Amino acid sequence: MTRQRLSGRVGLIGAPVAHSLSPAFQQPAFDAYGGGIVYELWPTPSAEIPERVEMLRSGRAFGANVTVPHKPAFADLVDTRSELAGLAGAVNTVVARDGRLHGENTDIHGFLTPLRERSIELRDSKVVVVGAGGAARGVVVALLTSGVAEIALVNRTLERAEAIASLDPSRIVPFASHAAADAAGGASVIVNATSIGWADSESVVDATVFSRLSRDALAYDLTYRETAFLRLASTCGIATLDGLEMLVHQGARSFELWTATPAPVDLMMTAARAARAARGG
Ligand code: NAP
Repeated sequence: MTRQRLSGRVGLIGAPVAHSLSPAFQQPAFDAYGGGIVYELWPTPSAEIPERVEMLRSGRAFGANVTVPHKPAFADLVDTRSELAGLAGAVNTVVARDGRLHGENTDIHGFLTPLRERSIELRDSKVVVVGAGGAARGVVVALLTSGVAEIALVNRTLERAEAIASLDPSRIVPFASHAAADAAGGASVIVNATSIGWADSESVVDATVFSRLSRDALAYDLTYRETAFLRLASTCGIATLDGLEMLVHQGARSFELWTATPAPVDLMMTAARAARAARGG
């Protein structure tokens, strides 16, 4: 689909949004695109979501990213949404056009791209996912569509893991956190999709869990900084990946949906790394 060259505004809807790295790598991409586009932060308490939706429908902005805690709400607020966004129950990208809103989940693309770039074969593999919130559900959808054989889904609150397991009970096995070591046997990737990484006290799983993974396993943390989980994995001789690449690739796909032009991914990655470093890593 070709679109007319864009101008105007786009922004990030969430609460809070002040900490977000998205403007630091989206703005340089839009500067390179031209048209004077501004990527803004739109702090939005739940009560103000209707005003944001109206702003998008009125044409005063051509789109938005959506972050915590509003991704599930936007899955129901848009006029149309992709199948993956429906499965994930979460929309993180809204494209506004002619008064109508289309919702996508680009976190799924963002999560998978760094794995593809490292030639990590997910088909027929076993993956451990720790966490059962919104991000974990997107990760599970990404893994199911990539043909994994088994997902061991570990969460502090078992009921939330069981709810996600209903997406595909033949491939997803829910575990409570205390059984994480039982869950990990033979897995080639372990994903930390909990929000604990930002607190950075201790790893969400212990060394026994890492010792049960297959040789050449990868520990992948969605948190876009070094975490206790990644440090412990590294100590145990496991390769690590933090969430910065995921963040940039989800944003790059959003850029492409809004502009219908290829995203300057390298430029965005460089800008994101610089912004993270400026904040102390
Ligand atoms: P969420 O819906 O609030 O879910 C939080 C999850 O963390 C739940 O599974 C929760 O367990 C678990 N958790 C929280 N504190 C814990 C603790 N002290 N011990 C054990 N488990 C704990 O959050 P979310 O939206 O899924 O986001 C999760 C993380 O993914 C965040 O760090 C977010 O920044 C990151 N993320 C990164 C990207 C990226 O592009 N890199 C994209 C999306 C999300 P319970 O169910 O037991 O409460």
